[in-house]
Amino acid sequence: MGTSFLADARGRTVRYLRLSVTDRCNLRCLYCRSDARAHDIPHDNILRYEELLRLVRLSVARGVEKVRLTGGEPFARRGCMAFLGMIRAEFPHIDLRVTTNGTLLRGEEATLARMGVNAVNLSLDTFDAARFARITGRDMLAEVLGVLEGLVTAGLRVKINAVAMRGVNEDDLPEFLRLARDMPVDVRFIEFMPMGSETCWSPDFFWPASDILRRANRLAALTPAERMREEGGPARMFSIAGGRGRFGVISPLSNHFCATCNRLRVTPDGRLRTCLYADREYGLRGLLRHPRLGDAAVARVMELACQDKPLGAELLRARRGNAVAAKGMSRIGG
Ligand code: SAM
Repeated sequence: MGTSFLADARGRTVRYLRLSVTDRCNLRCLYCRSDARAHDIPHDNILRYEELLRLVRLSVARGVEKVRLTGGEPFARRGCMAFLGMIRAEFPHIDLRVTTNGTLLRGEEATLARMGVNAVNLSLDTFDAARFARITGRDMLAEVLGVLEGLVTAGLRVKINAVAMRGVNEDDLPEFLRLARDMPVDVRFIEFMPMGSETCWSPDFFWPASDILRRANRLAALTPAERMREEGGPARMFSIAGGRGRFGVISPLSNHFCATCNRLRVTPDGRLRTCLYADREYGLRGLLRHPRLGDAAVARVMELACQDKPLGAELLRARRGNAVAAKGMSRIGG
């Protein structure tokens, strides 16, 4: 093992696996659950933790160095914390991360730190309680801010993800800059992506990274930050004069990063997705559960699928209507 890599003809090698552990979420963010009418995936079709662990094993043996748990809300699934512990115990050296809305994490921040989780991505789109409730469907801003404090106090590296929505959270920009100045966190505005067949995405909502940066530069002295050694990600980050944290943008629409994409996604029901924007998925669950085929067949599918990894930007350009992919983020794993 360890000799075959997950690579394609464009010279891209997969190093990063994003596992969506559930499609369930306790929030209903307007940019995410656009296919809210779709039913939850039946429990039997959700990959069991031991099946997910097999996927981690197969991936690490093929060069994957970084694993992220996401969802849905990962901590809405029972046993998620223990699962993180299982991954860490078996793979002490991988870069292990989690993306969460934070609402179910109160009191668990130190546990994540003890487990050696390398970074936590925390979703936070606004500092206004009423607006938070409008965006997410729940009045839980105070919980998220409490968890943010707890994560930082526990010594964890924290990245804030804010989906940039014109006319929705534009006037939160000064507060986000203040956060990046006052706390040792990375604040990133992500361009709103047109995901999901009934997405509420529209050009009116779209707030491009270039405009965010132009405005941010008027509010703070930003200088391009040096990339940290482990950073290969798509964010463009800036330091703020006198600040403890950093501010940046992720621009999947206006300035894509397909050429260097090194990720694979697995949906909660065990479908391998080689590109966020591509609806082509490769079913792994049947193979994982097959009495004879098992890991060798799963690995073969992973290798072949990766050879065919598309360029999402081409799919984005060719899309008809608003949505680039039929599924919303909660069913894919953001
Ligand atoms: N529930 C967790 C959370 O809120 O972080 C994890 C899943 S959520 C789908 C992961 C990330 O996807 C969030 O940071 C969210 O902001 C982002 N996201 C979801 N839909 C998006 C969209 N249409 N455009 C851009 N980002 C999106």
